[in-house]
Amino acid sequence: MSAKIISGTEVAKQIREEIKAEVQELKAKYGSVPGLVTILVGENPASVSYVTAKQKTAKELGFYSIQDNQPEDITEEQLLALIDKYNKDEKIHGILVQLPLPKHINETKVLYAIDPDKDVDAFHPVNVGKLVIGEAVFKPCTPAGIQELLIRGGVEISGAEVVVVGRSNIVGKPIANMLLQKAKGANATVTVVHTGTKDIAAHTRRADILIVAAGKPKAITADMVKEGAAVIDVGVNRIGVTPEGKAKLAGDVDFDAVKEKASLITPVPGGVGPMTITMLMKNTLEAFKYSLKNK
Ligand code: NAP
Repeated sequence: MSAKIISGTEVAKQIREEIKAEVQELKAKYGSVPGLVTILVGENPASVSYVTAKQKTAKELGFYSIQDNQPEDITEEQLLALIDKYNKDEKIHGILVQLPLPKHINETKVLYAIDPDKDVDAFHPVNVGKLVIGEAVFKPCTPAGIQELLIRGGVEISGAEVVVVGRSNIVGKPIANMLLQKAKGANATVTVVHTGTKDIAAHTRRADILIVAAGKPKAITADMVKEGAAVIDVGVNRIGVTPEGKAKLAGDVDFDAVKEKASLITPVPGGVGPMTITMLMKNTLEAFKYSLKNK
């Protein structure tokens, strides 16, 4: 069997079209649009490119968007005051502070200062708690992208054996929590494996849906995968340089071998990656709609 390859680039494009249309409808009805502020401290080149991409997407979708650049030496107090300003700004529905922050600033304190109703990254403990009890308004972006890829890829999640490789707070734990909820697009039996697991392959071989977020190239080889499984590769590993001088990327799954065994697989790049920014936009739209309901 050769697997169906699910393009995150295509699915993300489709979702962005849906968001754009909904923004136009809401604008006509309420005269306002979702607002997103991205706060960048310093000039870390990777962070600059991430916020630039987020702002570009927000503008394309018709959002009100602000790129707020702050100097590397901003104090923690000043940054907290800035967040407070956006917490109170009625035109802003989503606040994103680009990480990492300079060492003199306590990242946790800053993230916890964001109003949970505007926390479109869904990292605030209030939103983490809501996710666990099945009452999430926002789902963290990468796991939300994974769930959308499965749903739109036509994978039956309800009743499936899901194995998640990795237990990070941004990918492994939230996707495990999301897929075990008694809800549409979930209702699976979920196992999470990590470096403390005794026999990882014994678990992965049982998986109808295998989600891999380990950050290790070829952590998953074909012998660890069940025939016909749906495989979502979250990993992004730099494994060299292309002839054009760009970073050569690979996932955590031995793609060429595993695609011969799986029924569905996501590529790297072009799989989960493009979904993440799109789900951030979806969360900003949800925050906007939530604010309309609570007016
Ligand atoms: P992380 O915080 O480093 O966590 C990795 C997890 O995988 C840990 O729980 C670790 O176990 C486990 N692990 C590592 N090697 C393993 C192995 N060989 N077998 C089983 N478990 C193993 O990583 P993360 O932030 O979740 O990210 C994971 C990967 O996804 C990275 O490559 C990252 O770049 C990528 N990522 C991509 C996106 C995207 O948008 N595409 C977004 C986020 C992350 P322990 O807990 O025991 O250490």
